[in-house]
Amino acid sequence: MTPPTQRPTPGIRRLDPATIARIAAGEVVERPASVVKELVENAYDAGATEVGVAIWQGGLTRISVLDNGSGIPADELGLAVERHATSKLSGPGGLERIATLGFRGEALASIAAVSRLTLRSRPTGAEAAHGIRVEGGHIEGEFIEGAPPGTTVDVADLFFNTPARRKFLHAPAAEQVEVTGAVGALYLAHPGATLVLESEGREVARYPRTSSASDAAVRVLGAELVGQMVEVEVPIPDGGRISGVVGRPAISRGTSRSVFFSVNGRSVASRVLAQALRRAFDDYLPRTRYPVGVIAVEIDPARIDVNVHPTKREIRITRERELGEILRAAVRSALQRAPQAVDRGARSSRSLRLDPPELQSGGPTPPTLSVPLAALPIAIARRQEHLLADRTPRLVGAAGGHPRLLLLAPIFSLYWLAASDDALVLVDQHAASERVVYEALRRDGRLARQSLVSPILLTLTARQAAVLSERRAEIGSAGFTVEPFGGDSYRIASLPVYRGRLARADMLPALLDELADGGRPTVPNGLVERTAASIACHAAVRAGDTISAEEMGRILDALYRLPDASYACPHGRPILVRLPRGRLDRWFLRSPE
Ligand code: ADP
Ligand code: MG
Repeated sequence: MTPPTQRPTPGIRRLDPATIARIAAGEVVERPASVVKELVENAYDAGATEVGVAIWQGGLTRISVLDNGSGIPADELGLAVERHATSKLSGPGGLERIATLGFRGEALASIAAVSRLTLRSRPTGAEAAHGIRVEGGHIEGEFIEGAPPGTTVDVADLFFNTPARRKFLHAPAAEQVEVTGAVGALYLAHPGATLVLESEGREVARYPRTSSASDAAVRVLGAELVGQMVEVEVPIPDGGRISGVVGRPAISRGTSRSVFFSVNGRSVASRVLAQALRRAFDDYLPRTRYPVGVIAVEIDPARIDVNVHPTKREIRITRERELGEILRAAVRSALQRAPQAVDRGARSSRSLRLDPPELQSGGPTPPTLSVPLAALPIAIARRQEHLLADRTPRLVGAAGGHPRLLLLAPIFSLYWLAASDDALVLVDQHAASERVVYEALRRDGRLARQSLVSPILLTLTARQAAVLSERRAEIGSAGFTVEPFGGDSYRIASLPVYRGRLARADMLPALLDELADGGRPTVPNGLVERTAASIACHAAVRAGDTISAEEMGRILDALYRLPDASYACPHGRPILVRLPRGRLDRWFLRSPE
């Protein structure tokens, strides 16, 4: 064989250490939020009871994490920023029983490789803090200074030396939303330490240490959860336990991102556990809604492998499905035991289910009524009697070749029953209204607003507040006028109004959550469409609202006037269902006339 005279590539060479470090950093450090996660977890591992996170420009220019933990001895500062240097594993076999959040010795080295990092620490017993300055992975200087016991890590100019990475970062406001979300998740997994977040020197979240999962959940997920949670607590047969809280079905979300799992204090994502939790809500929630919850799993460390993912976000659990089933059953029975909160206005209608659990096959029969009273057809009929009494059926349509519809009656505060010349028609009032609002928003870029005579005060979570400032323009043109009112309070001075219908103020937090999660996920197209769809959903007439024929008529008129009215709401659910007369005739064994 003749050796090739010229190779197309320069051949195999070893990469230089700086390049290796940057490649490795890419796995651990994706954006400011991932830096915050690693640094706060280090503080937790150091036994800190108070941790402060400060960011500037969403963390793009500077991130600073300060703790009151055990600290790092001066002669170990250099080691701390070296790859594969850790105090948390000793000797072979250590990987099999990891009790700390960190163990790979990679985070500080990775962050230091792609930023200008200052690490200063005063370990317990030391007189002063020692510090080092690292730039792009090289130690550039050392110093001694007075500081309270504990550790501070300062990260400036993230990705200053990796421009390719920097391109994938978002605008500061969007990165701040991510950081705020990460801080909330860190606290939920470890509520035993106070966690404070500042942005541009202003406190934006304060999560005090607590031993109560429901306290922590309310602080991170919102005050609407107060009195709306059920506790879950169940032992795992071969050791450990599952505990936490889940929101009642009346509190639900459009995405699955308001469920937080931790395993042995580590915040993790687990598809298996998430699906198990969702299954516990089967027939309590429509398929498009997701529960809210915080679930902590304490388990024999030998059953988990945390070393499968660079950011340790995913872990392996042996017999994970079995664990999921324990979780599902525990949540299910907690939901069945918990008496429903009755009549919280239309909000409780979100849990509307037409078949009470008594009619379901299998499973123990729940002793309590788990359907909100308001959702029972009889209660509805009684509530709607006055509406039916003086109603003259209303005729709509005949615009643009659409069949004329006679609006007959609302049913279940959800559908409108109507008839055309040759069919019975059911209209989903929410879907219809949502579609109309969505089209108006896309066409005009804004919705009309109505000022409130008495402004409404709302509390927002830190993450909701972060999205509010990120999307101020869009939210404003959608008709919401929202002003900070001190602390976590906000004052709503105007609400969107569409065809005489005023949106509800409590839709705003839900809208903000949805935008933080990335908007309606089922709507294709870009961010603008997803945002419009979210706003439309929250500004529209809701399922559970009782609306007049007048109003339904206006919505249908507007719907019919849409140029390309495909009768589906912005996320593809049908708006109208037709039952042709011929079908009815066959049901009643009549020959068609
Ligand atoms: P790991 O957490 O996997 O050990 P890191 O790179 O995150 O790796 O940290 C390296 C080491 O630096 C840790 O093992 C720990 O000894 C020390 N360290 C890092 N942050 C802190 C802190 N906030 N307080 C005390 N020690 C810390
Ligand atoms: Mg670490």
